Amino acid sequence: MKKETLAKRIAQKAGCPELGPYILGLTEKETLPTHCLPWQGMREGLVIRPRMVRVGFELRMRTSAQVSRIRFQGQKHQVNRLIKILRDDPQEKFRMRKICPTPFCVNPLHWEMVVTTTVLTQEEPTMDLDEWTSQDVEEMLEILFTEHNPKNWDEVINAPLMHGAPPALIVPILKRWHKNHLCPN
Ligand SMILES: [Zn+2]
Repeated sequence: MKKETLAKRIAQKAGCPELGPYILGLTEKETLPTHCLPWQGMREGLVIRPRMVRVGFELRMRTSAQVSRIRFQGQKHQVNRLIKILRDDPQEKFRMRKICPTPFCVNPLHWEMVVTTTVLTQEEPTMDLDEWTSQDVEEMLEILFTEHNPKNWDEVINAPLMHGAPPALIVPILKRWHKNHLCPN
C-alpha cells in the first residue's frame, strides 16, 4: 500500500480529511483542527475515566489503557505512533503520549513524542509500503464505495485509492459483497 493510500485511510478513520496531507508532510500542523478526533477504527483497551497522576513534580493525565489501532500488513499499529513515523521518521527510540482527556483521540496536536533512548535499535518493524493484505484491500474498497460509485472493473482498479492493490485480493472481496458486475471478465 502506498504511503498516500495509508495516509488517506488513517484520515478517513479519524474523520479528518486534513490529516492525510499532514501525514504526508504536505501541510503544517496549523492546518489541523484543534478539536479532538476520536478514532473510528479498531480500538483496544478499557475505557477508563481519565485521571491525573503525579509523576515527580508533574501532573499527567493517565489514559494509557486505550489504544487506537490500525491493521496494516497483517500487524496492528498504534495510530499515533504510525502517524509520527510516516510524517517525521524519527531516528530515536520513542513512544507517544496523549495530552488530552478524550478517549481514543488521534489528533496529532494532542500527542507528544517522548524519546526513550537516543540509540536507534533494530527492533522497530520496517514497513514495506508496497505490501497489501486482504484487510487493507477491504478497507480501501469500503472507502472507494463510500466516496465513489465505480461502475466497472476499470473504474475499480484504476481508482487512485486502489493503486498497487493486487487484483487477486480485490476480486474475492467484490464477489463476497455481491458485486460480481464489477469483477473483470
Ligand atoms: Zn484530543
